[in-house]
Amino acid sequence: MKLNIVCIPGDGIGPEIVAEAKKVLNKVAKVYGHEMSFTDVLMGGASIDAYGVPLTEETIATAKEADAVLMGSIGGNTVTSPWYKLPPNLRPEAGLLGIRKALNLFANLRPAVLYEELSEACPLKKEISSAGFDMMIMRELTGGLYFGERYTTQENGIRKAVDTLTYDEKEIRRIAIKGFDIAMKRRKKVTSVDKANVLDSSRLWRKVVDEVSADYPEVTLEHMLVDNCAMQLVRDPAQFDVILTENMFGDILSDEASMVTGSIGMLASASLNDTKFGLYEPSHGSAPDIAGKGIANPIATILSAAMMLRYSFDLDWEADAVEDAVRNILKKGYRTVDIMSEGCSQVGCKEMGDLLADEIK
Ligand code: NAD
Repeated sequence: MKLNIVCIPGDGIGPEIVAEAKKVLNKVAKVYGHEMSFTDVLMGGASIDAYGVPLTEETIATAKEADAVLMGSIGGNTVTSPWYKLPPNLRPEAGLLGIRKALNLFANLRPAVLYEELSEACPLKKEISSAGFDMMIMRELTGGLYFGERYTTQENGIRKAVDTLTYDEKEIRRIAIKGFDIAMKRRKKVTSVDKANVLDSSRLWRKVVDEVSADYPEVTLEHMLVDNCAMQLVRDPAQFDVILTENMFGDILSDEASMVTGSIGMLASASLNDTKFGLYEPSHGSAPDIAGKGIANPIATILSAAMMLRYSFDLDWEADAVEDAVRNILKKGYRTVDIMSEGCSQVGCKEMGDLLADEIK
């Protein structure tokens, strides 16, 4: 397969971790006989330094021509970096919002996996975490409360603020289809999360998800209220495969799910549009405090690259190979400093990339 991948190394540890992900992808290409080309473009602080803006039309055009985009992360120290003296629309994060909009990325995917070898980092009790868990949160990214009409006013001297939560059936259907498609590649279970006992938007959400489920007879669908889901995530996380939910509920639940894994350097993510195209990036930020020290954990970015292989290119074996390599290297006791524990061997960012690439045979 011929694959054209655009890379946005970004700021802070971004260039270090993207270099390791490329190393692993190059090894996958070699072992499985694919042709991968990488084009680097600037975004965020690096783009501000070069062009005065966090996202250029050229970066957008190059990304649109790619089969997928792999990103490190963007931004700097929000207190000391001169980027944060700029108006908000010219700061590094504006580049991220801009590219998501330009590429119509409406579906956010965040896996939360508890690796047996890292179970000590999990803040849950042993009897809960010992079963491990492996779930995928599918969050709608461009609708709902964060994009509805909002205003603040005063009525009879009383201040009042209004936010509106709107979804139409088209928005719900397209994210539901993505959720069921992802479930078909996993354990074939979807938990759709809403607040249908109170909200009209949730009642429509539930109806449309039911309609979409008719096209996926192999997938088991359950509906769960968001308050119950927040509780179940810490009571019995192993019950979940794909959690499908709207923007604000997903924002909160995906942070909760990632916290129960306990390891920020391990968390991948993807944002997808209605084709196979996606932007893949670690969930963590640019970690300016450790940039340039060679100690960043590249695994979240490498697992994001595995998601790219699986969801944009349908290369499931290749994605499995990368994920297996991560498991094997953890089993062999290699750790970067953020996940280090007694008796393990500490390695740097580059060494971790080398170990993972070598593991793909
Ligand atoms: P952060 O995720 O960058 O760092 C939080 C802590 O986790 C730091 O101590 C850091 O050293 C550590 N850490 C993060 N990733 C790590 C890794 N791969 N290996 C080892 N340790 C790691 O969050 P922050 O400090 O709040 O934000 C720093 C910058 O990143 C800010 O400018 C913020 O806006 C930006 N940010 C960008 C994105 C993105 O690009 N999508 C996401 C979140 C934050």
